[in-house]
Amino acid sequence: MAKLCDAVIVGGGLNGCTMALALARAGMRITVIDRTRITDQLNPAFDGRGYALALASKRLLDALGIWKSVADQAQPILKVVVTDGRASDGPSPLLLEFDHAELDEGPVGFMLEDRYLRRALLGALSEYPDVAQINGRNAISHEVTDSGVSVTLDDGATAKGALLIGADGNGSAVARREGITYSGWPYRQTSLVCAIGHEMSHEGTAHQFFMPSGPLALLPLPGNRTSIVWTESNGNAIRIQEMDDDGYLNALRPAVGGFLGQIHLEGDRYSYPLALSVANRFVTRRVALIGDAAHRVHPLAGQGLNAGLKDVGALAEVLVQAWRRGEDIGALDVVERYQTWRRFDTAALAAATDSINRLFSNDDSLVRFLRDLGLGVVNAIPAVRRGLMREAAGLTGEIPKLLQGRPL
Ligand SMILES: Cc1cc2nc3c(=O)[nH]c(=O)nc-3n(C[C@H](O)[C@H](O)[C@H](O)COP(=O)(O)OP(=O)(O)OC[C@H]3O[C@@H](n4cnc5c(N)ncnc54)[C@H](O)[C@@H]3O)c2cc1C
Repeated sequence: MAKLCDAVIVGGGLNGCTMALALARAGMRITVIDRTRITDQLNPAFDGRGYALALASKRLLDALGIWKSVADQAQPILKVVVTDGRASDGPSPLLLEFDHAELDEGPVGFMLEDRYLRRALLGALSEYPDVAQINGRNAISHEVTDSGVSVTLDDGATAKGALLIGADGNGSAVARREGITYSGWPYRQTSLVCAIGHEMSHEGTAHQFFMPSGPLALLPLPGNRTSIVWTESNGNAIRIQEMDDDGYLNALRPAVGGFLGQIHLEGDRYSYPLALSVANRFVTRRVALIGDAAHRVHPLAGQGLNAGLKDVGALAEVLVQAWRRGEDIGALDVVERYQTWRRFDTAALAAATDSINRLFSNDDSLVRFLRDLGLGVVNAIPAVRRGLMREAAGLTGEIPKLLQGRPL
């Protein structure tokens, strides 16, 4: 069986599905291959993450017709509070505080759980007759020729197109087969993720507590619920993850402090080992990488998926424009336009998140004093604060049309 289409996407995670949708809406024929079965992906416990989606990402989802089906499950982030903390004494000095009222555009972002976003994307894709979704199959090899690319699956089937988009996440096999290498290192930190229910309202506030072993983020979900991203050294994380629920909550409570009242776990607990890894190229002839296949960053700023969605916006814009002009969308000069657009921005994000993690996952008193002083200055200057907020909302730089909420 050979499926012929314009683009073959290996990896039908959040970025791969969004990419497929953006191209399909412009009229292109797409094949999306994912090794996970759709029924598994639709299981609400498939992935415990809740994402802080920047305003620009929300606009992209709006432009793709997705936002209306997830808006009821999204929690606007009305305030962001960053504090320094020490294990067992909870958050202490306030470092930064952003209020959405300082931004003309409204909330800096929205919290949305994986289960809702994934279901909406998969549902939307299934409505496009020109999108072939192949699930439960591994893409095991691909071959690039002058005229196209052919991807072989583990059942011997092939999918052919003009371009292969590698959306196959961390450790991308598409990148490896293309000889693309990565810069980066493991963080020796793991993020423990869960949702908690609590007595008091979070009032739409996202908290980031910088603890010496790693940041702890409390991200508001609809109702009296909060998504926890609790980053610890690998050893501590393994020890905590192995505890029973009571032990886990007892370890979490002192870090959270008492401002949410009584807390309890809601749903499963997850853990994600962390690393920095940025592909040294995002494209080769007939191949382009997006999302975690191209870059994996520390989650402390909640920017990984946002960066992936910016890849989607930029690559879709480049490809649709080239396709409408009758250009070969797999040609190197076409995909290099995407690389030029996204490489610098990604390198800057990787450097920024890495530096913040080094600076804050640190208990040295001089480093603590200097960083607290520096952020105190930032916090005191409204224009600088607003600049940081606009950056976090994805409102700076050369913004792809979809992330401005405009169609392609
Ligand atoms: C703890 C934590 C919290 C985070 N919080 C945020 C946040 O608040 N905001 C934010 O913007 N980002 C956040 N991120 C980052 C975000 O989760 C990722 O950037 C995003 O999920 C990556 O999606 P992806 O589609 O690129 O990759 P993946 O989700 O890894 O998807 C890759 C897909 O490819 C498939 N695949 C792989 N190989 C093959 C193959 N050979 N054949 C077929 N299929 C294959 C896999 O099955 C998978 O479905 C967080 C990350 C972590 C670890």
